[in-house]
Amino acid sequence: MKVSIVKCEDYEHRRVKNAILRSLELIGGIGEIVKAGDTVLLKVNVIIGFPPERAATTHPAVVGAMTEIVNEAGGIPWVGDSSGAYGYTAKSLELSGIKGACEEYGGKLINFESTGAYSVNIEGQILKTVNIAKPAIDCDVLVSMPKMKTHQLTKYTGAVKNFYGVIPGSGKAAIHRQAPTEESLSRAVVDIYSALKPQLAVMDGIVGMEGEGATNGTPIASNVILSCRDCVALDAVASEIMGFPHNDILTTHFANERGLGIGELDKIEVMGERIKDVRLDFKKSRYMYYKLPAFLGKFIFKSAENVSKVAISENDCKRCGVCIESCPASAITLEPAPLIDQEKCIKCYCCHELCRNGAVKLKTSFIGRRLLNRMKYEAGD
Ligand code: SF4
Ligand code: SF4
Repeated sequence: MKVSIVKCEDYEHRRVKNAILRSLELIGGIGEIVKAGDTVLLKVNVIIGFPPERAATTHPAVVGAMTEIVNEAGGIPWVGDSSGAYGYTAKSLELSGIKGACEEYGGKLINFESTGAYSVNIEGQILKTVNIAKPAIDCDVLVSMPKMKTHQLTKYTGAVKNFYGVIPGSGKAAIHRQAPTEESLSRAVVDIYSALKPQLAVMDGIVGMEGEGATNGTPIASNVILSCRDCVALDAVASEIMGFPHNDILTTHFANERGLGIGELDKIEVMGERIKDVRLDFKKSRYMYYKLPAFLGKFIFKSAENVSKVAISENDCKRCGVCIESCPASAITLEPAPLIDQEKCIKCYCCHELCRNGAVKLKTSFIGRRLLNRMKYEAGD
Protein backbone atom coordinates (compact mmCIF):
# COMPACT_ATOMS: atom_id res chain seq x y z
CA MET A 1 0.00 0.00 0.00
CA LYS A 2 1.36 3.41 -1.01
CA VAL A 3 1.04 6.52 1.13
CA SER A 4 2.32 9.77 -0.38
CA ILE A 5 3.72 12.71 1.52
CA VAL A 6 4.08 16.03 -0.32
CA LYS A 7 5.27 19.27 1.22
CA CYS A 8 3.05 22.34 1.03
CA GLU A 9 4.06 25.52 2.78
CA ASP A 10 0.74 27.38 3.04
CA TYR A 11 -2.88 27.53 1.94
CA GLU A 12 -2.43 29.48 -1.30
CA HIS A 13 -4.87 27.82 -3.72
CA ARG A 14 -2.48 27.01 -6.55
CA ARG A 15 0.16 25.57 -4.20
CA VAL A 16 -2.39 23.45 -2.39
CA LYS A 17 -3.86 22.14 -5.62
CA ASN A 18 -0.43 21.26 -7.01
CA ALA A 19 0.52 19.49 -3.78
CA ILE A 20 -2.69 17.42 -3.80
CA LEU A 21 -2.26 16.58 -7.50
CA ARG A 22 1.34 15.49 -6.88
CA SER A 23 0.31 13.39 -3.89
CA LEU A 24 -2.38 11.71 -5.98
CA GLU A 25 0.04 11.08 -8.86
CA LEU A 26 2.37 9.29 -6.45
CA ILE A 27 -0.35 6.76 -5.61
CA GLY A 28 -1.57 6.26 -9.18
CA GLY A 29 -3.39 9.46 -10.12
CA ILE A 30 -6.95 10.73 -9.69
CA GLY A 31 -7.93 8.97 -12.94
CA GLU A 32 -7.49 5.62 -11.19
CA ILE A 33 -10.10 6.60 -8.63
CA VAL A 34 -12.61 8.97 -10.24
CA LYS A 35 -14.32 8.16 -13.54
CA ALA A 36 -16.45 10.57 -15.60
CA GLY A 37 -19.88 10.99 -14.04
CA ASP A 38 -18.94 9.53 -10.63
CA THR A 39 -20.43 11.20 -7.61
CA VAL A 40 -17.52 11.82 -5.24
CA LEU A 41 -18.27 12.54 -1.60
CA LEU A 42 -15.51 14.55 0.08
CA LYS A 43 -16.12 13.81 3.78
CA VAL A 44 -14.64 16.85 5.46
CA ASN A 45 -14.15 17.47 9.19
CA VAL A 46 -16.30 20.39 10.32
CA ILE A 47 -16.80 19.52 14.05
CA ILE A 48 -18.66 22.63 15.18
CA GLY A 49 -17.48 25.24 12.73
CA PHE A 50 -14.37 26.91 14.04
CA PRO A 51 -12.71 29.40 11.67
CA PRO A 52 -9.94 27.92 9.47
CA GLU A 53 -7.09 29.57 11.40
CA ARG A 54 -8.06 27.60 14.51
CA ALA A 55 -6.80 24.46 12.66
CA ALA A 56 -9.65 22.33 13.99
CA THR A 57 -11.42 21.74 10.67
CA THR A 58 -10.39 20.72 7.17
CA HIS A 59 -9.10 23.94 5.64
CA PRO A 60 -11.35 25.42 2.91
CA ALA A 61 -8.34 25.80 0.60
CA VAL A 62 -7.83 22.02 0.69
CA VAL A 63 -11.55 21.41 0.18
CA GLY A 64 -11.65 23.93 -2.70
CA ALA A 65 -8.59 22.43 -4.42
CA MET A 66 -9.90 18.89 -4.11
CA THR A 67 -13.33 19.97 -5.37
CA GLU A 68 -11.67 21.48 -8.44
CA ILE A 69 -9.58 18.34 -9.00
CA VAL A 70 -12.68 16.12 -8.90
CA ASN A 71 -14.48 18.44 -11.33
CA GLU A 72 -11.54 18.38 -13.72
CA ALA A 73 -11.46 14.57 -13.54
CA GLY A 74 -15.09 14.53 -14.73
CA GLY A 75 -16.55 13.65 -11.33
CA ILE A 76 -19.38 15.35 -9.48
CA PRO A 77 -18.02 16.64 -6.15
CA TRP A 78 -20.21 16.45 -3.07
CA VAL A 79 -18.86 17.97 0.14
CA GLY A 80 -20.49 16.83 3.35
CA ASP A 81 -20.40 16.36 7.10
CA SER A 82 -22.51 16.69 10.20
CA SER A 83 -21.44 18.71 13.22
CA GLY A 84 -20.86 17.33 16.70
CA ALA A 85 -24.14 18.75 17.96
CA TYR A 86 -27.52 18.39 16.27
CA GLY A 87 -28.79 21.50 14.51
CA TYR A 88 -25.42 23.19 14.03
CA THR A 89 -24.15 21.70 10.78
CA ALA A 90 -25.31 24.43 8.39
CA LYS A 91 -23.73 27.13 10.54
CA SER A 92 -20.59 25.06 11.03
CA LEU A 93 -20.12 24.54 7.29
CA GLU A 94 -20.40 28.30 6.86
CA LEU A 95 -18.07 29.30 9.74
CA SER A 96 -15.38 26.84 8.70
CA GLY A 97 -15.24 28.42 5.22
CA ILE A 98 -16.21 25.12 3.59
CA LYS A 99 -19.50 26.44 2.25
CA GLY A 100 -17.62 29.29 0.56
CA ALA A 101 -15.09 26.86 -0.95
CA CYS A 102 -17.94 24.81 -2.43
CA GLU A 103 -19.53 27.88 -3.97
CA GLU A 104 -16.23 29.04 -5.43
CA TYR A 105 -15.09 25.71 -6.89
CA GLY A 106 -18.38 24.07 -7.84
CA GLY A 107 -19.03 21.49 -5.14
CA LYS A 108 -22.45 20.44 -3.90
CA LEU A 109 -22.63 21.18 -0.18
CA ILE A 110 -24.36 18.42 1.78
CA ASN A 111 -25.64 18.72 5.33
CA PHE A 112 -25.92 15.15 6.65
CA GLU A 113 -28.56 16.28 9.11
CA SER A 114 -31.01 16.72 6.25
CA THR A 115 -30.17 13.83 3.91
CA GLY A 116 -31.76 10.99 5.83
CA ALA A 117 -29.83 7.94 6.93
CA TYR A 118 -29.68 4.21 6.23
CA SER A 119 -29.77 1.81 9.14
CA VAL A 120 -26.86 -0.53 8.44
CA ASN A 121 -26.33 -3.86 10.22
CA ILE A 122 -22.67 -4.26 11.01
CA GLU A 123 -22.38 -6.73 13.88
CA GLY A 124 -19.38 -4.80 15.13
CA GLN A 125 -17.49 -5.13 18.38
CA ILE A 126 -19.47 -2.34 20.06
CA LEU A 127 -22.17 -1.38 17.58
CA LYS A 128 -24.62 -3.76 15.95
CA THR A 129 -26.40 -1.27 13.70
CA VAL A 130 -25.51 2.28 12.74
CA ASN A 131 -27.44 5.05 11.04
CA ILE A 132 -25.27 6.37 8.25
CA ALA A 133 -26.02 9.51 6.24
CA LYS A 134 -27.29 8.38 2.84
CA PRO A 135 -24.68 10.20 0.68
CA ALA A 136 -21.87 8.20 2.33
CA ILE A 137 -23.48 5.01 1.02
CA ASP A 138 -24.97 6.33 -2.22
CA CYS A 139 -21.86 8.07 -3.60
CA ASP A 140 -19.72 6.30 -6.21
CA VAL A 141 -16.45 7.36 -4.57
CA LEU A 142 -16.05 8.08 -0.86
CA VAL A 143 -13.08 10.23 0.18
CA SER A 144 -11.95 10.98 3.74
CA MET A 145 -10.54 14.50 4.10
CA PRO A 146 -9.34 14.81 7.70
CA LYS A 147 -7.24 17.37 9.51
CA MET A 148 -3.97 16.20 11.12
CA LYS A 149 -4.76 16.52 14.84
CA THR A 150 -4.31 15.21 18.33
CA HIS A 151 -7.36 14.03 20.27
CA GLN A 152 -7.92 14.06 24.00
CA LEU A 153 -9.54 10.67 24.13
CA THR A 154 -8.11 8.74 21.18
CA LYS A 155 -4.70 10.55 21.11
CA TYR A 156 -4.88 11.09 17.34
CA THR A 157 -7.70 11.71 14.89
CA GLY A 158 -7.32 11.21 11.17
CA ALA A 159 -8.81 9.47 8.16
CA VAL A 160 -10.61 6.63 9.96
CA LYS A 161 -12.04 8.65 12.85
CA ASN A 162 -13.16 11.35 10.42
CA PHE A 163 -16.02 9.02 9.48
CA TYR A 164 -17.61 9.49 12.90
CA GLY A 165 -19.28 12.46 11.20
CA VAL A 166 -21.34 10.22 8.87
CA ILE A 167 -23.52 9.53 11.90
CA PRO A 168 -25.99 12.41 11.78
CA GLY A 169 -27.89 14.11 14.55
CA SER A 170 -27.95 12.76 18.07
CA GLY A 171 -26.53 9.40 16.99
CA LYS A 172 -22.99 10.51 17.85
CA ALA A 173 -23.92 11.25 21.46
CA ALA A 174 -25.63 7.87 21.73
CA ILE A 175 -22.45 6.13 20.57
CA HIS A 176 -20.36 8.10 23.08
CA ARG A 177 -22.71 6.86 25.78
CA GLN A 178 -22.09 3.27 24.71
CA ALA A 179 -18.35 3.81 24.22
CA PRO A 180 -16.96 6.34 26.72
CA THR A 181 -13.34 5.12 26.94
CA GLU A 182 -10.44 5.35 24.52
CA GLU A 183 -10.63 1.65 23.78
CA SER A 184 -14.39 1.34 23.41
CA LEU A 185 -14.69 4.53 21.35
CA SER A 186 -11.86 3.37 19.06
CA ARG A 187 -13.61 0.04 18.58
CA ALA A 188 -16.89 1.84 17.84
CA VAL A 189 -15.18 4.12 15.31
CA VAL A 190 -13.76 1.05 13.56
CA ASP A 191 -17.25 -0.49 13.61
CA ILE A 192 -18.53 2.57 11.72
CA TYR A 193 -15.57 2.39 9.37
CA SER A 194 -16.39 -1.26 8.61
CA ALA A 195 -19.76 -0.18 7.17
CA LEU A 196 -18.16 2.13 4.61
CA LYS A 197 -16.14 1.65 1.45
CA PRO A 198 -13.80 4.63 1.17
CA GLN A 199 -11.54 4.63 -1.86
CA LEU A 200 -9.27 7.52 -0.94
CA ALA A 201 -8.01 9.70 1.90
CA VAL A 202 -6.45 13.14 1.44
CA MET A 203 -5.21 14.69 4.68
CA ASP A 204 -4.84 18.40 5.40
CA GLY A 205 -1.56 18.43 7.31
CA ILE A 206 -0.45 21.90 6.21
CA VAL A 207 -1.29 23.32 9.62
CA GLY A 208 -2.17 20.63 12.13
CA MET A 209 -3.26 20.77 15.76
CA GLU A 210 -1.14 19.69 18.73
CA GLY A 211 -1.92 19.48 22.44
CA GLU A 212 -5.53 19.40 23.50
CA GLY A 213 -7.11 18.45 20.15
CA ALA A 214 -9.46 17.96 18.50
CA THR A 215 -10.48 21.60 19.03
CA ASN A 216 -8.70 23.09 22.05
CA GLY A 217 -5.14 22.51 20.94
CA THR A 218 -2.61 24.78 19.26
CA PRO A 219 -2.05 25.13 15.50
CA ILE A 220 1.30 23.75 14.36
CA ALA A 221 2.82 24.24 10.90
CA SER A 222 3.32 20.68 9.69
CA ASN A 223 3.42 21.56 5.96
CA VAL A 224 2.31 18.29 4.41
CA ILE A 225 -0.46 16.82 2.31
CA LEU A 226 -0.90 13.05 2.55
CA SER A 227 -2.83 10.79 0.18
CA CYS A 228 -3.60 7.08 0.20
CA ARG A 229 -6.20 4.63 -1.12
CA ASP A 230 -6.36 3.13 2.39
CA CYS A 231 -7.43 5.32 5.35
CA VAL A 232 -5.80 2.95 7.85
CA ALA A 233 -2.40 3.14 6.14
CA LEU A 234 -2.65 6.92 5.87
CA ASP A 235 -3.31 7.12 9.61
CA ALA A 236 -0.31 4.91 10.38
CA VAL A 237 1.97 7.29 8.46
CA ALA A 238 0.33 10.52 9.67
CA SER A 239 0.57 9.55 13.33
CA GLU A 240 4.26 8.71 12.90
CA ILE A 241 4.83 12.16 11.36
CA MET A 242 3.23 13.64 14.48
CA GLY A 243 5.55 11.65 16.71
CA PHE A 244 3.02 9.02 17.85
CA PRO A 245 4.03 5.38 17.41
CA HIS A 246 1.45 4.09 14.93
CA ASN A 247 0.82 0.97 17.02
CA ASP A 248 -0.41 3.15 19.89
CA ILE A 249 -3.29 4.51 17.86
CA LEU A 250 -6.12 2.13 18.65
CA THR A 251 -8.26 2.92 15.61
CA THR A 252 -5.28 1.98 13.41
CA HIS A 253 -4.52 -1.10 15.52
CA PHE A 254 -8.11 -2.41 15.59
CA ALA A 255 -8.77 -1.69 11.90
CA ASN A 256 -5.55 -3.51 10.98
CA GLU A 257 -6.44 -6.43 13.26
CA ARG A 258 -9.85 -6.73 11.62
CA GLY A 259 -8.41 -6.68 8.11
CA LEU A 260 -10.00 -3.35 7.22
CA GLY A 261 -6.73 -1.83 6.04
CA ILE A 262 -2.97 -1.92 6.39
CA GLY A 263 -1.90 -0.54 9.76
CA GLU A 264 1.66 -1.84 9.89
CA LEU A 265 4.39 0.52 8.77
CA ASP A 266 6.62 -2.21 7.34
CA LYS A 267 3.84 -3.10 4.87
CA ILE A 268 3.46 0.48 3.66
CA GLU A 269 5.46 2.10 0.86
CA VAL A 270 5.97 5.77 1.59
CA MET A 271 6.18 7.91 -1.55
CA GLY A 272 7.49 11.47 -1.91
CA GLU A 273 8.99 12.78 1.33
CA ARG A 274 10.39 10.37 3.91
CA ILE A 275 8.69 10.27 7.31
CA LYS A 276 11.90 11.08 9.15
CA ASP A 277 12.37 14.24 7.06
CA VAL A 278 8.97 15.69 7.92
CA ARG A 279 8.52 14.25 11.41
CA LEU A 280 7.47 16.70 14.12
CA ASP A 281 7.04 16.12 17.79
CA PHE A 282 3.43 17.24 18.24
CA LYS A 283 2.66 18.08 21.85
CA LYS A 284 0.44 15.35 23.21
CA SER A 285 -2.78 15.84 25.07
CA ARG A 286 -2.00 15.80 28.76
CA TYR A 287 -3.73 12.42 28.90
CA MET A 288 -0.67 10.82 27.39
CA TYR A 289 -0.50 7.85 29.73
CA TYR A 290 0.02 5.65 26.70
CA LYS A 291 3.73 6.46 26.73
CA LEU A 292 4.05 4.56 29.99
CA PRO A 293 4.12 0.80 30.39
CA ALA A 294 0.49 -0.25 29.84
CA PHE A 295 -0.30 -1.38 33.40
CA LEU A 296 1.20 1.76 34.95
CA GLY A 297 -0.28 4.11 32.37
CA LYS A 298 -3.77 2.70 32.77
CA PHE A 299 -3.57 2.91 36.55
CA ILE A 300 -2.36 6.51 36.54
CA PHE A 301 -4.83 7.59 33.87
CA LYS A 302 -7.72 5.98 35.71
CA SER A 303 -6.67 7.57 38.97
CA ALA A 304 -6.17 10.98 37.39
CA GLU A 305 -9.45 10.68 35.54
CA ASN A 306 -11.22 9.96 38.79
CA VAL A 307 -10.02 13.21 40.27
CA SER A 308 -10.58 15.36 37.15
CA LYS A 309 -13.82 16.93 36.05
CA VAL A 310 -15.29 19.23 33.45
CA ALA A 311 -16.95 22.43 34.61
CA ILE A 312 -18.58 25.40 32.87
CA SER A 313 -17.40 28.92 33.50
CA GLU A 314 -20.50 31.01 34.06
CA ASN A 315 -18.71 34.14 32.85
CA ASP A 316 -17.58 32.64 29.55
CA CYS A 317 -20.74 30.69 28.78
CA LYS A 318 -22.98 32.26 26.12
CA ARG A 319 -25.89 29.84 26.78
CA CYS A 320 -25.79 28.65 23.16
CA GLY A 321 -26.89 25.12 24.07
CA VAL A 322 -24.33 23.25 21.90
CA CYS A 323 -22.98 21.31 24.87
CA ILE A 324 -26.46 20.20 25.90
CA GLU A 325 -27.11 18.84 22.40
CA SER A 326 -23.86 16.88 22.41
CA CYS A 327 -23.86 15.53 25.97
CA PRO A 328 -24.48 11.77 25.86
CA ALA A 329 -25.23 11.66 29.59
CA SER A 330 -27.73 14.57 29.75
CA ALA A 331 -25.50 15.92 32.50
CA ILE A 332 -25.65 19.63 31.62
CA THR A 333 -28.15 22.28 32.63
CA LEU A 334 -27.89 26.00 31.91
CA GLU A 335 -30.56 27.43 34.17
CA PRO A 336 -30.45 29.01 36.64
CA ALA A 337 -26.67 28.75 36.06
CA PRO A 338 -24.50 26.49 33.85
CA LEU A 339 -23.87 23.28 35.71
CA ILE A 340 -22.51 19.80 35.01
CA ASP A 341 -23.90 16.99 37.14
CA GLN A 342 -20.69 15.15 38.04
CA GLU A 343 -22.62 12.03 39.01
CA LYS A 344 -24.04 11.70 35.51
CA CYS A 345 -20.93 12.88 33.58
CA ILE A 346 -19.06 10.05 31.80
CA LYS A 347 -16.03 12.27 30.98
CA CYS A 348 -16.30 11.92 27.22
CA TYR A 349 -15.10 15.58 26.81
CA CYS A 350 -17.58 16.27 23.98
CA CYS A 351 -18.70 19.49 25.68
CA HIS A 352 -15.09 20.62 26.00
CA GLU A 353 -14.45 19.79 22.34
CA LEU A 354 -17.55 21.51 21.01
CA CYS A 355 -17.79 24.70 23.04
CA ARG A 356 -16.80 27.51 20.70
CA ASN A 357 -16.45 29.95 23.59
CA GLY A 358 -13.91 28.10 25.69
CA ALA A 359 -16.39 28.02 28.56
CA VAL A 360 -15.97 24.33 29.36
CA LYS A 361 -12.88 23.86 31.51
CA LEU A 362 -11.05 20.72 32.49
CA LYS A 363 -10.46 20.88 36.21
CA THR A 364 -8.04 18.58 37.89
CA SER A 365 -7.78 18.28 41.64
CA PHE A 366 -4.50 18.57 43.52
CA ILE A 367 -4.11 14.77 43.54
CA GLY A 368 -4.97 14.60 39.85
CA ARG A 369 -2.37 17.26 39.01
CA ARG A 370 0.25 15.37 40.98
CA LEU A 371 -0.59 12.20 39.10
CA LEU A 372 -0.53 13.91 35.71
CA ASN A 373 2.75 15.66 36.50
CA ARG A 374 4.20 12.37 37.63
CA MET A 375 2.95 10.83 34.42
CA LYS A 376 4.74 13.51 32.37
CA TYR A 377 7.87 12.88 34.37
CA GLU A 378 7.63 9.11 33.82
CA ALA A 379 6.99 9.72 30.12
CA GLY A 380 10.17 11.74 29.90
CA ASP A 381 8.60 15.04 28.82
S1 SF4 B 1 -20.72 25.93 27.85
FE1 SF4 B 1 -20.18 26.55 25.78
S2 SF4 B 1 -21.38 25.19 24.47
FE2 SF4 B 1 -22.31 25.11 26.52
S3 SF4 B 1 -23.92 26.64 26.46
FE3 SF4 B 1 -22.09 27.61 27.31
S4 SF4 B 1 -21.10 28.59 25.53
FE4 SF4 B 1 -22.56 27.08 24.74
S1 SF4 C 1 -20.83 16.82 30.71
FE1 SF4 C 1 -19.37 16.90 29.02
S2 SF4 C 1 -17.79 15.38 29.52
FE2 SF4 C 1 -19.59 14.97 30.83
S3 SF4 C 1 -20.77 13.44 29.69
FE3 SF4 C 1 -21.60 15.44 29.15
S4 SF4 C 1 -20.46 16.01 27.27
FE4 SF4 C 1 -19.32 14.34 28.24
